[in-house]
Amino acid sequence: MTLPRLLVLSLGGTITMVRDSSGGIAPKLGAAELVASVPALAEVARIEARSPFRLPSPSITMANLLEVARILNDAFSSADPEGSFDGAVVIQGTDTIEESAFFLDLLVAGDKPVIVTGAMRGAEAPGADGPANLLSAVRLAASEQARGLGALVVLNYDIHAARFVQKSHTALPSSFESPMIGPIGLVAEGRPRFFARVERRPCLPVPASPPPPIALLKIPMGFDGRLLSALPGLGYAGLVIESMGAGHVPAEVAPMLGEIAARMPVVLASRAMTGPVFTSTYGYPGGEIDLISRGLIASGELSGLKARLLLGLCLGSGADASSVPLAFAPYQ
Ligand code: ASP
Repeated sequence: MTLPRLLVLSLGGTITMVRDSSGGIAPKLGAAELVASVPALAEVARIEARSPFRLPSPSITMANLLEVARILNDAFSSADPEGSFDGAVVIQGTDTIEESAFFLDLLVAGDKPVIVTGAMRGAEAPGADGPANLLSAVRLAASEQARGLGALVVLNYDIHAARFVQKSHTALPSSFESPMIGPIGLVAEGRPRFFARVERRPCLPVPASPPPPIALLKIPMGFDGRLLSALPGLGYAGLVIESMGAGHVPAEVAPMLGEIAARMPVVLASRAMTGPVFTSTYGYPGGEIDLISRGLIASGELSGLKARLLLGLCLGSGADASSVPLAFAPYQ
């Protein structure tokens, strides 16, 4: 039996980090070294390892991710059977996995699995979780069951759908959670088992250049709107607010948001860990009914971080502001 052919891309992250002269750990290892460190991978897939970047994930840019999306689309679309891959694993730092996975979910169309993984412990740490996570990711990318689910994240054996996954802890290998729906599966006894299948949402065209800058603002108690007055002059193409609860801000902030919404798209997300943004329950000034009537667009089930990516990609694809509600409609 021919083993599936997989592309393993490493962008860096703790999984690639070893001690250096700084006294701390920094990204050093590449994809080939990571793959070589887990001999069992050779029994699961034929792997081509590439290391487009060696970055800590807070330094990954939209331009970097766009390049990754292009590499994956090329790898999957080649007409030459030897040139085409059956699936891919993207290795990166855990700090921004929840964003990268959703970005790739939006830009890599088709059924082939894209599995994002990383590690919470460095490569030289006792009990390093990188090798186990990489093996789970490769098993998942090689499996028929993972097809058609969009980008998935696997760490600590848990399989998460890209649009729900969040980093929930700064230290634990069990840091990744999908608070809205839970993990959709588990890699146990060497094979993926799925408990649920998530329906894919529409993909977007891969833009020629990185998405325009979108501001993300969390609204704290007593917020006086001062940052909002400065915002229109800063060159942002859109704004996402992480509002309170189901989509609420202090009453006096609502008109300021309405003024910004007349100039650029403003998406209403929540600072609560999970749950949909409401659209028709709270009628008080600053409640979601008021904000939506002022032109804000509810993020639905998307967190502020994920809504920011969707808004940027939507505007970057050349669509005008009137198409933004349509882009968010599948998430309501
Ligand atoms: N700071 C690291 C990074 O995101 C954390 C990790 O990889 O777990 O690159």
